[in-house]
Amino acid sequence: MTDRKDELAGNLAKVEQRIADACAAAGRSRDEVTLIVVTKTYPASDVRILSELGVRHVAENRDQDAAPKAAACSDLPLSWHFVGQLQTNKVRSVVGYADVVQSVDRSRLVTALSKEAVRAEREIGCLIQVALDAGESGRGERGGVAPEGIEELADLVAGSPGLRLDGLMTVAPLTGEYAGRQRAAFERLMDLSTDLRRAHPAANMVSAGMSADLEEAVAAGATHVRVGTAVLGVRPRLG
Ligand SMILES: *Cc1c(COP(=O)(O)O)cnc(C)c1O
Repeated sequence: MTDRKDELAGNLAKVEQRIADACAAAGRSRDEVTLIVVTKTYPASDVRILSELGVRHVAENRDQDAAPKAAACSDLPLSWHFVGQLQTNKVRSVVGYADVVQSVDRSRLVTALSKEAVRAEREIGCLIQVALDAGESGRGERGGVAPEGIEELADLVAGSPGLRLDGLMTVAPLTGEYAGRQRAAFERLMDLSTDLRRAHPAANMVSAGMSADLEEAVAAGATHVRVGTAVLGVRPRLG
C-alpha cells in the first residue's frame, strides 16, 4: 500500500471502531448507521483510495471542487452527497453528479432542483437541512431552515417531480440554546424526524454528527454520520 492508503486505512479503521462502539453503547445495530466521508478540499486521488478501501458514500460542499472530482471518479461505485449551501445557479451542475442533496433549505432551491432533475432525467434524494439556531429570519447562518419551516418544504419536495424526500440533516449549532450541547441538538433533530415521518414515512434518513460529535449523533439515533477530518486529516483551508 502507498503511504496515503495506509494512512486513510488506519483512520477509517479508527472511525469504524468509534461508530461500532457508539452503536453498541446505544444498543443499536451497526448497520443502522451509514458512514459518509466528507472529502471536501481533498483530491480525487483520495476519493479513489477511499473507494478501494470500501467507502461507498462521499460528500462535498462546493460545486466548483465537487464537479471535477465527481467527473474524475465517475467509474467508481460511489454515492455523492452535496452538503454545502447551494445557490440556484449551481443546481444544474450539482444535479449532474449528486445522488443526495442534504442542504435543501428554501422553496426556490426545491423548484430549481426539481426542474434540473427532470431535465437530467435523474431522481435526486433531498434532506431538509434544519437550523436549530435559526434567528428571526427563520434561517441559519450556515444554511438551514428553522424547525417551523420543515413541514412546508417537505411537502414541496414530496410533490416535486424528480425529487425524493429522504429526511433531515443538521449541523450542531455553534450559537443559541444548543451551542455546546450536541446530544440535545441531535435529540431535537430526532423528534423533528419523528414528526416528519408521520406525514412522510419513507423520509427516514437522519444525517447528523461529524468528526467531533459522531458518538452523540449515533446515541441520539442518527442514520448517517458525515466525517471528514477524522478520516482525511485536518483540512489545509477552511471548507
Ligand atoms: C465539513 C463538513 C462535515 C465534516 O466535518 P469534520 O469535522 O471534518 O468531520 C460534515 N458536515 C458538513 C455539512 C460539512 O460541511
